[in-house]
Amino acid sequence: MRIAYFDNNATTPPLPQVVDAMVSRLTDGFGNPSSSYRRGREAREAVETARGSVARLFGCAPSEVVFTSGGTEGDNSAILGLCGVGDHVITTAIEHDAVLNSCRALERLGGEVTRLPVGLSGQVDPDAVRRALRPNTKLISVMTANNETGVLQPVEEIGRLAAMADVWFHTDAVQAAGKVPLSVERFGCDLLCISAHKIHGPQGVGALFVRRGTPLKPLIHGGGQERGHRAGTENLPGIVGLGLAAEAALAGFEDGTVEWIRGWRDRLETAVLQSIDGATVNGGGAPRVGNTTSLSFNNVLAEAVVAALDQLGLSVSAGSACAAGSREPSHVLMAMGLGAVRARSSVRISIGKGNTADDVDYLLAVLPDAIRHLRASSPQRRAPAQDAK
Ligand code: PLP
Repeated sequence: MRIAYFDNNATTPPLPQVVDAMVSRLTDGFGNPSSSYRRGREAREAVETARGSVARLFGCAPSEVVFTSGGTEGDNSAILGLCGVGDHVITTAIEHDAVLNSCRALERLGGEVTRLPVGLSGQVDPDAVRRALRPNTKLISVMTANNETGVLQPVEEIGRLAAMADVWFHTDAVQAAGKVPLSVERFGCDLLCISAHKIHGPQGVGALFVRRGTPLKPLIHGGGQERGHRAGTENLPGIVGLGLAAEAALAGFEDGTVEWIRGWRDRLETAVLQSIDGATVNGGGAPRVGNTTSLSFNNVLAEAVVAALDQLGLSVSAGSACAAGSREPSHVLMAMGLGAVRARSSVRISIGKGNTADDVDYLLAVLPDAIRHLRASSPQRRAPAQDAK
């Protein structure tokens, strides 16, 4: 059976050079970067080389990069490391749970949170951010790209207004890294986080940009690693893997990878819209990263599509990986006003550099029939199309 993986927003296959470098750091090249003898010094050098690579991906100084355990820790650190009792945070209703639940934790500590809605486009309105500012607003946290729809948020505009209002600005760039060029200067952000496993690096490691002078308190206490921002012996194999993944992500903007992925995604969407009645692209009118499509097919449940495609060797997802299996319709699609019926019939297909043109052809060859078959046997088939609102 043909196998094709189309869930690259959930996680990506680690690149061969990432795996090789990690294995060698787990075998001959092990060491504690804090040790003063040769093995330790070599480990330190490897960590700093990786820091330089991540700094190039962010467009910042290496001293502004803090290694973390991933995107979730980056979001928690940004919000809970900066804000406390009496502080107000502005965020959006479409953030990842790592942000939404950090905000809930802040509320339990006595902080205040405004969650801004988004329009049908999937984008937050910068004017709504401006209007939400209060005298006690300490932080704005708006993601760079959404994990379910790929819709890019107006981070540059929000960064400018955060600077004018003298408010700190965090952006979760986990789903933007490697897909659009990141630049902490252009974004005007003080904090930005990424996750290695979304850019063909390993799971359980990530990085947080902390602009020099940002008064971020550590969440993890212990030794003074990461200049006091994040205690604990560095994850040497993971950090080395992240560094190489960051280099490969940068190369993808030069060697055409990002463009051919966008081309396949666009071809896929055009073909699906032509061949499947009632198919729509969620957030299709907004600027988006080039690898993601969120497709809704009326009269069919997303879980059924995922299961049917799985039988055919294809991995796609119903909403985000974290929410998959939950009975609730996607909070992102609901916040866009698509309604529960349409949200429950939405499937995310996310392409990566591990895919080939044959994978896309295979998906296109089987998807229309799979949907037709499911619709014919769907208990929803009599549901009126306007329910899709
Ligand atoms: N933020 C976004 C937008 C994500 O998509 C994810 C993962 O799905 C995360 C944060 C969490 O990252 P990690 O899996 O590294 O904790």
